[in-house]
Amino acid sequence: MTTAPPERKSAPADPPPSTALERRLVELIRAHGPISVADYMSDALFHPNDGYYMSQSPIGARGDFTTAPEVSQIFGELIGLWIVQSWIDIGAPDAFTLVELGPGRGVLMRDILRAASLKPEFLKAANVQLVETSGRMRHEQQKRLKDAAAPVSWKDAFDETDDGPILIVANELFDCLPIRQFEMTEDGWRERMVSLDDSGERLAFSTAFAPPLALSGAPAEAPAGSIYEWGAPGEDLAEEIGGRLAENKGRALIIDYGHVRAGLGDTLQAVKGHRAWPPLAAPGLADITAHVNFDRLIERAFDAGAAAFGPVAQGTLLDRLGLAMRVERLSAGKPQDVADTIQSGAFRIAAASEMGELFRALCISSPGLPAPPGFEPA
Ligand code: SAH
Repeated sequence: MTTAPPERKSAPADPPPSTALERRLVELIRAHGPISVADYMSDALFHPNDGYYMSQSPIGARGDFTTAPEVSQIFGELIGLWIVQSWIDIGAPDAFTLVELGPGRGVLMRDILRAASLKPEFLKAANVQLVETSGRMRHEQQKRLKDAAAPVSWKDAFDETDDGPILIVANELFDCLPIRQFEMTEDGWRERMVSLDDSGERLAFSTAFAPPLALSGAPAEAPAGSIYEWGAPGEDLAEEIGGRLAENKGRALIIDYGHVRAGLGDTLQAVKGHRAWPPLAAPGLADITAHVNFDRLIERAFDAGAAAFGPVAQGTLLDRLGLAMRVERLSAGKPQDVADTIQSGAFRIAAASEMGELFRALCISSPGLPAPPGFEPA
């Protein structure tokens, strides 16, 4: 994730160091020409040796960014209750797959399973499958889930998870899936590329000369200089999830930050050490993300025959799932400083001025199921 709360706004004062990955990309571009923003993002985040998720410790106070489950255990507990209710809504099957996409340090799944312990039949039926591409992150997940109350296994991709009844959760996965960017020029849309600056040694943005071969969803007219973003991998995943849920009973809860309507604008951003970072500087050392376009995810899920609910603001969802009551229960009888920490954590994940409004929750669902908890029409 890469929201930029106030303390993260300023960019580093010194020019960031070059990295091995940057030098390799410079060589590649010199030999073969500019690469797309998506290819850049993909290498910067997932290059097998030097990609950010493969080589760094991204999440937590000592990492570069923090996420809702890391801020407050209440996040995972309320989502755990959402998942248990969803299991009941799909008929409480005695075997089902509980999938998490992009589980980070495994904190969310740990809290989900703890909250679910109030329904032992749920835990007995659950087969947990974690979809994770980074070996480093898998190691973190293994540490946190070694005593899990349900069997846990790892998969490289969603299409490797088991068929049958399924419940899926993904928090801040879609924002790190690569996007392409297009800029409106006098001659129409042109792809924004990553190329070399005047020195020929550092990376810089440029614009392709030829029109794009394919460009899905961009408006025909837009002011010159407008940026349109297209996140094909995220959209394809939404369609894949939709297809699975059209065939098998279940629901997916997707939480991320982004826009509800397809908008124009450059949302590519990088974060290092909890501060904003120039996206092309020192690839592999900083997290890079883009806003999620929920409209497009919904469209693709519909195309695949699924239903969708929301998105609703994260704060609204958590409030409806019983945030206030959970804070009260957890704080009862605790020393003041502990109670304060519980309350400030809850404030951060749910207040509109913090993560509560920027982050949204979307539910992709099998057709014919009732509105999921927290998504009831107002
Ligand atoms: N959900 C976690 C972590 C978010 S960071 C949290 O809320 O704290 C993104 C996570 O997704 C990391 O674990 C990263 O390694 C993983 N990831 C990135 N791309 C992925 C992909 N295509 N498939 C599966 N996991 C991916």
